[in-house]
Amino acid sequence: MHTNQAVLVVGGAGYVGSHMVLTLQRAGYFPVVLDNLSKGHRHTLKNVECVVGEMSDTELLNQLFTKYQFNAVMHFASFIEVSESIQFPLRYYQNNVAATMNLLDVMLQHQVKHFIFSSSAAVYGQPNVALIDETCAIAPINPYGRSKCMVEAMLHDIAAVEPLQFASLRYFNAAGADPEGQLSECHEPESHLIPLVLQAARGERSHITIFGDDYLTEDGTCIRDYVHVMDICHAHLLALDALVKGRKKMIYNLGTGRGHSVMQVIKTARRITGAAIPFVIGSPRVGDPAILVADASLAMAELNWVIKYKALDDMIAHALKAMKVRGVTLEVEN
Ligand code: UDP
Repeated sequence: MHTNQAVLVVGGAGYVGSHMVLTLQRAGYFPVVLDNLSKGHRHTLKNVECVVGEMSDTELLNQLFTKYQFNAVMHFASFIEVSESIQFPLRYYQNNVAATMNLLDVMLQHQVKHFIFSSSAAVYGQPNVALIDETCAIAPINPYGRSKCMVEAMLHDIAAVEPLQFASLRYFNAAGADPEGQLSECHEPESHLIPLVLQAARGERSHITIFGDDYLTEDGTCIRDYVHVMDICHAHLLALDALVKGRKKMIYNLGTGRGHSVMQVIKTARRITGAAIPFVIGSPRVGDPAILVADASLAMAELNWVIKYKALDDMIAHALKAMKVRGVTLEVEN
């Protein structure tokens, strides 16, 4: 147990962040959340202090770092919509880069040196390889991906001269939810495939639009590496342990090494829910690569990361369970 080790979870009210808070609590840490609630939901957080504010607010950060002796900072507060990043690049650079710079500055002034950053497969752009490992060229194709690269570059430069120790974890497609149904995936508006498919299964939307069926894949639809959110959170715990033991910097892909097409996701969800899930074929989404699958063997070898929920079935079943629980919670709250 890591009793009373305080961890600042920035963006802890969001999808991955709230699962991280739960994971930290279950592992005996003491998480404290900073979230501006622009995307996150306070009702997801139980028995944890949630400070509502911006990571660009230096005064607020100073207060927080003075109040708590944080052992580490975990950063989940980036904006994540590719199309929005193309439309509003400044918003993305302000939040994802400038505000992160401020967080790092204050954190280091308070002698907190362990930092874990949620990076993304988007740093690789559209690589032409079957399995993407960390040696693949960094070649982002949109402001979202570039904002992640900028933070990674910043981390390297700062760590070269400051006591900063960091892990940058490049998620592929985070999916699923807490298997015990305590939390859910909830984006507003929803844009992610699995929750959209499940909304269609539950009759909350009439159909799903498949963004292109003419890709060079077996069934023509895009292939992604869906990785369970609890496995992602577990990797953060391992990365934190490694930092505490002295590792200076780490960059790891987090994925399962297995890809599933959009069509396979729909078919799996049909089997699990028994619902029809109607779909229509729409145009491809700008900047969507045909295939993105991780080689995450480095995280497995160096962090001893073992994936617990590799099956797409589990991710979809857990997401469905969380949606049912959330439905009940929202009815009670109303
Ligand atoms: N997708 C789709 N219809 C939707 C949403 C997503 O066909 O309504 C596809 C999308 O083109 C991609 C995959 O599902 O190939 C996963 O998309 P998501 O937005 O969940 O994650 P991304 O890969 O963009 O991070």
